[in-house]
Amino acid sequence: MTQKTAGIHHITSFVRDPQGNVDFYAGVLGLRLVKKTINFDAPEVYHLYFGNQIGSPGTAVTFFPAPGSRVGKVGGGQVGYTVYAVPAGTLSFWESRLAKFGVPTERSSRFGETFLRFKDPDGLQLEIVEREEGPKSEWSFGGVPADKAIKGFGGALLYSIAPDKTMNVLRHVLGLEPIAEEDGLVRFRAAGDIGNVIDINAQPVPWGAGGAGTVHHIAWRAKDDEDHERWRELVARSGLQPTPIVDRQYFHAVYFREQGGILFEIATDTPGFDVDEPFESLGEKLMLPEWYEKHRELIERNLLPIEVRSLEGERK
Ligand code: ZN
Repeated sequence: MTQKTAGIHHITSFVRDPQGNVDFYAGVLGLRLVKKTINFDAPEVYHLYFGNQIGSPGTAVTFFPAPGSRVGKVGGGQVGYTVYAVPAGTLSFWESRLAKFGVPTERSSRFGETFLRFKDPDGLQLEIVEREEGPKSEWSFGGVPADKAIKGFGGALLYSIAPDKTMNVLRHVLGLEPIAEEDGLVRFRAAGDIGNVIDINAQPVPWGAGGAGTVHHIAWRAKDDEDHERWRELVARSGLQPTPIVDRQYFHAVYFREQGGILFEIATDTPGFDVDEPFESLGEKLMLPEWYEKHRELIERNLLPIEVRSLEGERK
């Protein structure tokens, strides 16, 4: 049996200011805050999840905002650009919207597509691209109507320190197909219709440094727990040293660092973000795993308050 991932499950990054993070991803980009929880390994730090109306796999972008944390450097061993897909014909809407919020953008092209490049307030490198495929978001917020909303990930541009090794994992472990090569980049495609186009540099990129403004890891989709077990075995057989399976409440996770330096995770599509709160009020309450519930008061006191708010523009 050949294992093939459907594509990206989620992408997780380090940032500094929690409210600035919410203002940018919900207020400017119009994503839904689908989960407000804490870093299960560091309960003094939020873990914020944004996505489409329900944070479907392939749409979930997540952050650990730690005020005053060390600033990183984007480079090899990381996701270089996180790519968001928007419906065909909406790139100029996004160009004017970002301009209205004082976010500088530039157009760039590869593989016959136009990308709008910009940075988030912490310096994370982002792109928006039009794509026909992939279900439209049903979420509309703060001046982004659902028919123009970000659908989820278009994919990612990976910066590898050993691209041959990374490409080998993309192809022979994750089951992605190489489909094109151009200007020092190779394009791969995963089986799904969202978060499915992965570009990678063909020549090594020098090491970056982890910290605020960089991606911590990229997670790939497993269908369910049974599929997840098979993935873990396959990763282990490929000599990549996966961690044990970890319960992340909304999915199960296995991590491994591929030899190009990038931290990969494989995460289950199930159970999803509505497992512990109703769809209507996703992201409104601070959700804690059972084992932290008895410390709720202390945990809440240690976190800066945040709110999802509609912004008028001209924010800096
Ligand atoms: Zn993850």
